[in-house]
Amino acid sequence: MALLAGLLLEGASQMRSSLDWVTHSSEVLKTANRSLNHLQQAESGQRGFTLTHNPEFAEAVDAEIAATRRAAANLVDLTGDNPAQNSRAKQIRKIIAQRADIIAGIMKLARAGDFSAAQASVASGHGRYLMQLVDARVGDLLNEERALSTARMAVVERRLNYIRWLVMLGIPATVIAIAFVAAALIRRIRKPVDEMMTVMGQLGAGDRRARIVANMDSSEFERLAKGYNAMADELQGAVADQVDSQERLRVANLELSQNTEVLRERGEVIELLGGMAHRMQSARTDEELASIIRVFVPRVLPEIPGALYAHNNSRNLLVPIAAWGGLDVSSAGFAPDQCWALRRGQSHFVIEPDSDIVCAHVGHDMHHYHCEPLLAGGEVIGVLYLKGVVGTENRFRLTVLTENIASALVNHRLQRGLREQTIRDPLTSLFNRRYMEETLALEIARSSRSGSPLSLVMCDVDHFKRFNDEFGHDAGDAVLQAVAVEMRSRFRDGDVVCRFGGEEFTIIAPGTSAATLASRVENVRQGISELLVQQGGRTLGSTTMSFGIATWEESMDRDGSTLIKAADSALYRSKRGGRNRVTLDARAEVIDA
Ligand code: GH3
Ligand code: MG
Ligand code: MG
Repeated sequence: MALLAGLLLEGASQMRSSLDWVTHSSEVLKTANRSLNHLQQAESGQRGFTLTHNPEFAEAVDAEIAATRRAAANLVDLTGDNPAQNSRAKQIRKIIAQRADIIAGIMKLARAGDFSAAQASVASGHGRYLMQLVDARVGDLLNEERALSTARMAVVERRLNYIRWLVMLGIPATVIAIAFVAAALIRRIRKPVDEMMTVMGQLGAGDRRARIVANMDSSEFERLAKGYNAMADELQGAVADQVDSQERLRVANLELSQNTEVLRERGEVIELLGGMAHRMQSARTDEELASIIRVFVPRVLPEIPGALYAHNNSRNLLVPIAAWGGLDVSSAGFAPDQCWALRRGQSHFVIEPDSDIVCAHVGHDMHHYHCEPLLAGGEVIGVLYLKGVVGTENRFRLTVLTENIASALVNHRLQRGLREQTIRDPLTSLFNRRYMEETLALEIARSSRSGSPLSLVMCDVDHFKRFNDEFGHDAGDAVLQAVAVEMRSRFRDGDVVCRFGGEEFTIIAPGTSAATLASRVENVRQGISELLVQQGGRTLGSTTMSFGIATWEESMDRDGSTLIKAADSALYRSKRGGRNRVTLDARAEVIDA
């Protein structure tokens, strides 16, 4: 397009200069004609004036002369570019000047009134000759200038044709070139645009890894592709983050529901153990305690057989109080140092052969067991033995279970202690009078039901007051304690030895007749009489006791008061009979010391 425009501008400029030359020729032609024309007008005016003497003819002659002179001078100037024409123009100017001078001379004569001289000058014919010369010269110049003009017009025509061809060929060529450029541009744009559309379509369809990798062939598209890829990376990252947080949320949810399940299970276990603890607190005997444990422990730790051992302080032994899940345990028990759990004060378990040392109480062929110590305030309360492996979740159950059992055992022990305090006499540790009365009523009821005999002993330390008087009240207490120990060791296990009050004692002997009991009492009397009581490093001496025995009969009161009175009267008789002796009830004989 630039070339075409350049050529057209060049053509137009050349045509303009050609046209200028044509115009110039036309100007030369016009000026030559004008100079001739003005000269002829001047001559015509001069001729008219000289012939008619009419001054009107003379009026314009001077102006015409001046005009023809100017035109001739102008013609010389115009032809300055062409030496041949210029020389012709100069000749024409010269001849015109000569002719003008003649006309001017004639006019001068005529104006002066010398018309005859003027006519004579005209008649000389010199003026006509010059006029013909001017005509001829101007004719030559015009011919030459016309030839020049024709040639210049031909040049203009050629230039016009050139421009016409330029336009006719250049415009279609330009249109074709533009079409080519457009096609090439479209082809260059289409490839990257297609590539981008494809990748965007893939991304839209869910392929988040789709990226523009093809060569874009242009820096703009390259930048666009880079920007797009960066955006896709961001998107992929954001989606990945979202997926990641969704996954974390899912895991957290799962954990939460698992934890909720664990908490629910633990709640159930705690509820179960709460029920167990409540029952254990209300248990009165060891057997009740054992049956509660046998019911609840297999529910808390299902499918694990086991046994509960309680620590017997007086014997320093772990004795089994309950077993469950079909486990058979020896009633002999074991010493605390035979269990590693008790030795170390923490759980001891073996989950596979040779993974840890095996407790002596378990047996060396046992490779799957768990011992959990029951401790309270650092003191050994017992041990929970489980034949099996305790899993992670069961650990929690086991911990709560052992805590519950330990506190229940401690509680049970305390309760037993308190109960002992209410039924025992603090000085002698024998049963007190209240317990004696309750037991007597119970034993009377049992004897009445079963028909087995029931006997009662009332006894009293002889001259006890003397000990108090002689050695002081503490010495009296020491005598009472010594007598109590002696009696407890000499009566049978089934006999209930009680302190009735002061230095009086009562022994309930179920299943024994007065006669049978008499020999045992005699044995006791003997033992006491041989006793040498010591107190605070000094010997207090010996003492004796008097005894009265009675046997319950259906005719007697069921609360035992009649039986006590009967035994008491037998005792009274022993005192009266000289003390240190055993007396049977009215119907029985008195055995002397
Ligand atoms: P007897 O042979 O007739 O039974 O004479 P006794 O001195 O044993 O009888 P008595 O009833 O006259 O005296 C009993 C004394 O025992 C009176 C009381 O001060 C004393 N006594 C009662 N209870 C206790 C006690 O717990 N400790 C001490 N040291 N003395 C007691
Ligand atoms: Mg007394
Ligand atoms: Mg007495």
